Amino acid sequence: MAKLWRSVAGVNKKMFIGKNIRNRVVSMRSYKKRSLYCPGMPTTYIIETTNACNQECPMCIRKDMTRPIGAMSLAFFKKIIDQIYEYAELVFPFYLGEPLLNPEIVSMISYCTKREIKTSLFTNGTIMSEGLARDLARSGLGHIQFSVDSVDESVYSTVRSPSRLGEVLANVEQFLMGNNNRVHTTLSMIEMKPTQDALGGFIKKWKRYNINIRYKDFSSWGGTDSSINCLAPHAKATKDDLPCDWQWRQMTILHDGRVVPCYFDFNGEHAFGNCNTSTVDAIWNGESLRDFRARQIDNKRRISLCTTCSKACIRPVEQLALCALDAYSALYVRLYVLEKNY
Ligand code: SF4
Repeated sequence: MAKLWRSVAGVNKKMFIGKNIRNRVVSMRSYKKRSLYCPGMPTTYIIETTNACNQECPMCIRKDMTRPIGAMSLAFFKKIIDQIYEYAELVFPFYLGEPLLNPEIVSMISYCTKREIKTSLFTNGTIMSEGLARDLARSGLGHIQFSVDSVDESVYSTVRSPSRLGEVLANVEQFLMGNNNRVHTTLSMIEMKPTQDALGGFIKKWKRYNINIRYKDFSSWGGTDSSINCLAPHAKATKDDLPCDWQWRQMTILHDGRVVPCYFDFNGEHAFGNCNTSTVDAIWNGESLRDFRARQIDNKRRISLCTTCSKACIRPVEQLALCALDAYSALYVRLYVLEKNY
């Protein structure tokens, strides 16, 4: 709990600004009313700064990705941020790739900070260096998650090939020593068959650092790949049929500028528009996204992307919390309170 409050102490001031509160309430109200037009702008953005990766993890859907590998330029990233900064509360500057492979990643995060947007970065830690750690801390990065998944060599080589565990552990430890709590840090392990027996060692290894240890739910990425499904620790029931709230409060942008419904659309097959040729505002309430909201309201299970999606739909208590808290603080509540952590 102390860690939670320490995190909230570094709050995003947008939590208290009237127009941002109004924006969150309006978005939530339009979701509850099932409006096709959403007058509130998204507060959370997933922006794919690159889809290149230096790992081949068996639980990752990236192996089924057929779109070209590329990286977003700093100029294009800034162009997007300049359109969203007023209402954006949280940017995840990564999606289906290792974000530190984008040479502009520190400048991108710094630009978000300059525009008063909080950031959360997930990395595999393989190329984290002392200099990069220092630059990230200076960039104003709010939160970083190292997706390490094991401290056991044999497990690690199965789930995080071809990286070397020893190098990654050294990088993470060097980061933690130099970080001194400036960037809130999470060490994560995905709950899946290969890692099931490795949690004890993982906790023991990281407990002495004053950080959050996250035991992350397994995602089957929509259940379309049997080589991923077979790693699930237990059968997961498909969740409810309510419309997906993300279409009223969150946006996912691929490195080539396409806006997709969510991170399950890894090949961009359901794109609503492109930030290269259109504005974020225009896409958010454009015909394509309004049509997608209508199909969500009608029956999301008829949308091929959503047929087997197990994302839990938002509960009334979360709706209230998301109106009261900015998206960055809501992330902390999820990481520290709602999920399994140690
Ligand atoms: S796949 Fe799931 S998260 Fe994505 S739009 Fe459909 S219901 Fe929402």
